Amino acid sequence: MSRKRRFFWVTITRQYLIAFCLLVLLLYVLTLPESYHLAVLSTAVVSTPVKYDVIIDPGHGGIDSGGIGAGDIYEKDIVLDIALKMRDFLEERGLKVGLTRSDDSDVTHLANIRGTRHQRDLNGRFLAMHEGSIGISIHANVTKDPKEKGAIVFYMRDSYIDQIYAKTVFEELEKVQVLNHPEPIPRGNLLLLKAKPPVLLVEVGFLSNQEDLNKLVNPGFRQVLAEAIGQGVLNFHNFYRLEQSE
Ligand SMILES: [Zn+2]
Repeated sequence: MSRKRRFFWVTITRQYLIAFCLLVLLLYVLTLPESYHLAVLSTAVVSTPVKYDVIIDPGHGGIDSGGIGAGDIYEKDIVLDIALKMRDFLEERGLKVGLTRSDDSDVTHLANIRGTRHQRDLNGRFLAMHEGSIGISIHANVTKDPKEKGAIVFYMRDSYIDQIYAKTVFEELEKVQVLNHPEPIPRGNLLLLKAKPPVLLVEVGFLSNQEDLNKLVNPGFRQVLAEAIGQGVLNFHNFYRLEQSE
């Protein structure tokens, strides 16, 4: 009798174990980072027609304020203004410019996946990048160390053309803003950089640093910054266009 019961107990345990494993597997798949969806995305992306010379992506927006600096300075507002100024600068020089957002909203409506608001927002930006021959995402940093300051340029790791793009923008950026790092930084884990066209992510400075914050709240400095990054984008665009036509 006791033997039978034990057998029964073992059977139940196995069934629970299988069910538990399946549940864990399901939870794991659901929590996989956005990059997991890349394989699914790339097929959808191939058919996306290129409509712009450059796509500018002002980070965050809507309920996502991004980093917050002293005095309630939101990253989303700072980077939107820089992006709009960049658009004007580049359009004046004959480029067709697309924006992922041109007001205080997120870009979840551009997504083609289901998921959290953050996942759909990132997916929307990723997809939008494929409407341009090149792209650039503008952000501002926040960190615990108030002494940390300066701009950073991120590019896709192991991509030679993206590295050239990064260096081209970096060269212009260092004329007007302190740099956090002596050269552009390669990254392999940023979804936006994995887009098919060359894409950079530029952090324009630290909102958590008083010096950077003072600069970034100044519209005049944002104009200078927008023109410098814009000039870098323009220089690379001209180079890349020739490179592709060869
Ligand atoms: Zn950001």
